[in-house]
Amino acid sequence: MSKKIKILIVEDEPAICNFLYTSLKMNGYYPLVAKNGKEALSMIPSHCPDLVLLDLGLPDIDGIQILEELRHWFNTPIIIVSARGQEEEKVCALDMGADDYITKPFGIPELLARVRSSLRRSMKSSLPSGQNEIFRLKDLTIDFAKRTVTLAGEEVHLTQIEYKIVSLLAKSAGRVLTYDHMITEIWGPYAIKDNQILRVNMANIRRKLEKNPAEPQYIHTEVGIGYRMIAE
Ligand code: CA
Repeated sequence: MSKKIKILIVEDEPAICNFLYTSLKMNGYYPLVAKNGKEALSMIPSHCPDLVLLDLGLPDIDGIQILEELRHWFNTPIIIVSARGQEEEKVCALDMGADDYITKPFGIPELLARVRSSLRRSMKSSLPSGQNEIFRLKDLTIDFAKRTVTLAGEEVHLTQIEYKIVSLLAKSAGRVLTYDHMITEIWGPYAIKDNQILRVNMANIRRKLEKNPAEPQYIHTEVGIGYRMIAE
């Protein structure tokens, strides 16, 4: 019995499919392939993959529809693979429960980093709560129980909202959170979806956390989509 991590590639373009298949196999994963949406939906229950790479542009069923279908009963990480310029679709996919996205064309190191980070998160979230009460990233430490943020041992004074934003991103480190998702989490479901207030807060957070706010090393902006706290 193979104990390798199973990754289902859902992709109709043979060239990309082969590229993904070979790269994953060479890096110790056990890849499986579905060439369309129907195949994907029938393979998932029988093969139980540990992660799914889902192309949004499939010939039979729209990728977003597949995602919607899967999220009713399937908790495994899903990484969306999409073309450049499909920001709206990516946002929609992330809000519907995709874990991450990767934009074509991409390199193997980027793909593998996304895969590792999604798998790590899905393993962590299956641990009992309370095991991740301290978040550490480079000089940044967040103590969720004490609600304190320190940078190289020095306490950083954040407003309540700033703390909420930083801890929200840290709890999903490595994952991009959409503007709408963040606004709902921080200000509640009835808040007006205005990205400006998020931007203003982020500028203040960066002034407090980043050595050079123009080149952030903790929180990256995903243009047109949202923000991501880096994971390592
Ligand atoms: Ca395609």
